[in-house]
Formats: sequence, structure tokens, C-alpha cells
Amino acid sequence: MKQYNSLLYFLNHGLWLLLLLCHIQILHNKRFCSGSSMSRNKAMVESLQRYGVIRSNKVAEVMESIDRALFVPNGAGAYIDSPMSIGYNATISAPHMHAMCLQLLEKNLQPGMHALDVGSGTGYLTACFGMMVRPEGCAVGVEHIPELVSSSIENIQKSAAAQLLKDGSLSVHAADGRKGWPEFAPYDAIHVGAAAPEIPQALIDQLKPGGRMVIPVGNMFQDLKVVDKKSDGSISVHTETSVRYVPLTSREAQLRGY
Ligand code: SAH
Repeated sequence: MKQYNSLLYFLNHGLWLLLLLCHIQILHNKRFCSGSSMSRNKAMVESLQRYGVIRSNKVAEVMESIDRALFVPNGAGAYIDSPMSIGYNATISAPHMHAMCLQLLEKNLQPGMHALDVGSGTGYLTACFGMMVRPEGCAVGVEHIPELVSSSIENIQKSAAAQLLKDGSLSVHAADGRKGWPEFAPYDAIHVGAAAPEIPQALIDQLKPGGRMVIPVGNMFQDLKVVDKKSDGSISVHTETSVRYVPLTSREAQLRGY
């Protein structure tokens, strides 16, 4: 009878306690493992700040406002600091590379300035450029895979930069980015998201005096080059770091695997 009573006691109280503990555990997991997309995006930005990759508040603010999950296929692994395949033999660059390029171009991404993103892929960095140069600025993406142009526009439409697409201060075009995009030239900032065997002359020509271009240069071994155009039109180039990007090439070569 005593045993029977303790079994009843457990069924009445112990089972409830067990259920309560499970519920608390589920709430805990929800808060720390999934969290909202924007809060995990913020955590990614904070980690890039802690490591000193992001040093400016404006860059942090802009990267916080543009949720990276909207630009990664299925949103999977969006906040992991690694490049990821986006199809068509292309990749979205790692968050630390996006942050580094924004940081290198920050002075040339002031409100009202013109920015060109060559090899704009997912549109992530084009959206960030748009947010940096608004209001009255202009951000242009050029990408030679038409399917990526369409999906990048869809991505941007879901993001905080959607309004810029609507008002025309941000646009993405299907074209060979080695020729730049003369319509909105000269540019204060040019970013190239694919490695060029050498710096395309058209991009140097479309850089404004005082403008800056960040471009990976090389084949197997690549350097991220920073090209500054002085007010007299002369050029200075320095190497920032070693990098690994997909090539800046023809659409045919890219689709057959280079
Ligand atoms: N910054 C982009 C990088 C994408 S990878 C992102 O993070 O999403 C490099 C991109 O350059 C690819 O999308 C590729 O299709 C594009 N590309 C390569 N050669 C090109 C060219 N000649 N003209 C335009 N885009 C080019």
C-alpha cells in the first residue's frame, strides 16, 4: 500500500516537475540556440568588432541592418564566418571579408557618394554600400550571371535596403563588370568581388580623383589590392592581405568551371 502511495505521489507531482523541467529546457534552447535572425546577425557583427575587423560604428550599424540570412541560399549557415557556394561556380564571401572591404572603403562610402560593386553575386555588399551612401548616394552592382542578378534583387527587396531599389539609388545590372558601369561614373568607391589577373583599365578610368578601389588580383595566389586615385589623377597601389576569391572572368569560362 505504501509503495502504491509513493507511485501515486510521483504520478501526481514528479511527472509535473519533469514536464516543467522539459519546458524550461526548451525555452532555454530557443533563446540561446535559435534566437531571432536579427539577433544572431547582431551577434556576428559584435564578434567581428571584438576581433577588430570592424572598427567603425557606421560599418557595424550597416552590417547589423542588413540581415545576412536573406542573402545566403536557404539562410543556412548565414552567420558562420566562411564563404559559401551560391551556385554557378560563385560564392558569397565570408563575413570578415565583407567587413574588411567595407572598412577599407569607409571614407569613400559617405552619404551622397557613388559606389560600384563588380561581381555583386548575392547583392549583400551592394545593399551595404547603398545603406552607407544614403541619402542621395548611389550604389551599383554589376554581375554577369543573369540568374544571380535576379536573385540578388529579390534578396535586396526583402532587406532593409529595399527602399533604395525602389527609389533608384541602388541598382543591379547583368553585364561584364570588367568594363565597369559608365552610367554612374566616376565612383568614389569601387569593390571587385572576384580576382582579376590584372587591374582592369576601365575600372581605373571610372574611379574619381580621391576615389578608392579594393580588388583581389592574381590567379592561384591573390592579393587584396587597395588602389587610390590622387587628385592629380595618378594612382598608388598597396597590398592589404593575401586572399582567395573566384576569378573575374568571362561568363562562359565561369560556367564551364574556369
Ligand atoms: N561579393 C559577392 C561575391 C560573389 S563571388 C558576394 O559576396 O555575394 C564573385 C562574383 O563575381 C560571382 O557572382 C561571379 O559570377 C561574378 N563575376 C565573375 N566574373 C565577372 C565578370 N567579368 N563580370 C561580372 N561579374 C563577374
